[in-house]
Amino acid sequence: MIRVTSDTTIFSLSADAVPAAEVAPGETVVLETLDCFSNQVQSADAPLESIDWTHVNPATGPVAVTGAEPGHVLVVHIDDIEVAPQGVMAVSDGFGVLSHHFKGMAFQMVQLENGTARVSGCAVPVQPMIGVIGVAPAGAGVPCGSPGSHGGNMDTRLIGAGATLYLPVFVPGALLAAGDLHAAMGDGEICGTGVEVAGRITLRVELRKDISLTNPVVETAQVIATIASAVSLDEAGEMAVRDMADLLMGHLGLSPADATMLMSAAGHLQVSQVVDPLKTARFAMPKTIVSQYPKALL
Ligand code: CA
Ligand code: ZN
Repeated sequence: MIRVTSDTTIFSLSADAVPAAEVAPGETVVLETLDCFSNQVQSADAPLESIDWTHVNPATGPVAVTGAEPGHVLVVHIDDIEVAPQGVMAVSDGFGVLSHHFKGMAFQMVQLENGTARVSGCAVPVQPMIGVIGVAPAGAGVPCGSPGSHGGNMDTRLIGAGATLYLPVFVPGALLAAGDLHAAMGDGEICGTGVEVAGRITLRVELRKDISLTNPVVETAQVIATIASAVSLDEAGEMAVRDMADLLMGHLGLSPADATMLMSAAGHLQVSQVVDPLKTARFAMPKTIVSQYPKALL
């Protein structure tokens, strides 16, 4: 097992990043992660001027995957996510859908106990998920606060323990990194933060050379979902729909008409987040539907 500590964080996913470790397909990796504020906010009255804003959205890594080459698909099995006992949320006039309500920034510390997060006096179920997970993109590096075809800040609720993430590989070694855990987050992430928390991700990687992808895909116990990010939510949604149609036609052999009608009858276009530099949408097909075909969707 390979352990990468949170001493090795990066703030952009980039082909130039020096790998913190190398992992072979099948090997287990543990990534220790800081929260999206690099653990700088430990109390609700933390002075803003004490926070180094160049150190937000850290990702731990990157991890080079032996044998990964552009055109492969990196399969990331997320076996476990552990979260620290305290998380933090923030609202600000600088981000989030409701930013007009705020002057400056305000924090709420969130205690996590017995599977619930105490938010605004309510018990919210803890469902840990990964906000930032991705590989190095082709070309220039992308800040960890932004999502894209390489993954990154997708803030997609389905990327939790037990899920499998499929990422296109753009550079030799893939250069996988992850961080920005959320103990809980609703679709949309409307305030710009989930319950931000430090923690530990246990994952295994595999390489697929028999399929190719242009954007990430996530598989949970219930669904397979294409994930797409674009300047507008409309555009992101359309990309996610097109990517799912390509999978149904290309991998299951459906005609365009059959794929389109099946998606319209049984698939779900969903919002991942609307608060990052690019918006993220997904199109989820229930596995009970796609498994009715003899071939595998992925
Ligand atoms: Ca995030
Ligand atoms: Zn976050």
